[in-house]
Amino acid sequence: MTDAERRAALEEIAGEVRVCTRCRLHETRTKAVPGEGDASTEVVFVGEGPGMNEDREGRPFVGRAGGLLVNLLGHIGWSREDVFITNIVKCRPPGNRDPEPDEVAACAPYLERQLATLDPSVVVTLGRHSMGRFMPGTRISQAHGTTRIADPATGARDATVFAMYHPAAALRTPGIERESYEDVALIPTVLTDARARRAEARRAARIGQATPIAAGAGTAHAEMPETEPSPADAETQADPLDTGPTTPTTQPTSAATLPDTEPAADQLSLF
Ligand code: URA
Ligand code: SF4
Repeated sequence: MTDAERRAALEEIAGEVRVCTRCRLHETRTKAVPGEGDASTEVVFVGEGPGMNEDREGRPFVGRAGGLLVNLLGHIGWSREDVFITNIVKCRPPGNRDPEPDEVAACAPYLERQLATLDPSVVVTLGRHSMGRFMPGTRISQAHGTTRIADPATGARDATVFAMYHPAAALRTPGIERESYEDVALIPTVLTDARARRAEARRAARIGQATPIAAGAGTAHAEMPETEPSPADAETQADPLDTGPTTPTTQPTSAATLPDTEPAADQLSLF
């Protein structure tokens, strides 16, 4: 997908969100908040749902929690424009109550389509509700600052999930704020590792693809599948500890600069 195609796909989703009536939250919202950011980014942040300021402006994380999120990003030299920021539910739950399970379920297809369009390397969850979608069965006190491979059913077909506390929790509790700064400092390495894992999965997929030709020529690979392995298959072949050079680069870059067919070493030398 080109940058322009990705932008258009995200704008199409946003247009549907702005007029959505799929759950009761549409009745009390001022503006729906589809999400915003760099359509070519490698990193997506997923919060819980809009608060009062977001509901008024139609933009995510523009209140006090947003201010802290911007400071956390600044801690690693990033700005909100470098990433994509969205929420589990796109309309404000009245009085900032937790979203109900049926509301989360009704809204899920929008986030899935956003993630399918963006194909991020890293999904950062902010808070329990977001973490619950991407790391089910974990507790935030234990899972914050840790990663997991995203279930492709989330829409993120080849992403590493990284859990953080919600910035609003950090605003309430100084200890959580301190831990949030520690956690955010891990993201550049999480991104570098995620890039390497994706590149290795693509490399493994290419080897799998080339093999049937060799098998047809009578080599010892006749047991290899005739069909192209799915990314999930490729992922199980990939060894994340054997991914070649790991030039640490902290800036998320345009997915457009990461052609699917480039080997890992070439990709990393781009930065
Ligand atoms: N809290 C969230 O979870 N999302 C926002 O967009 C703002 C505050
Ligand atoms: Fe639609 Fe999601 Fe808003 Fe519910 S929260 S009305 S599903 S956009």
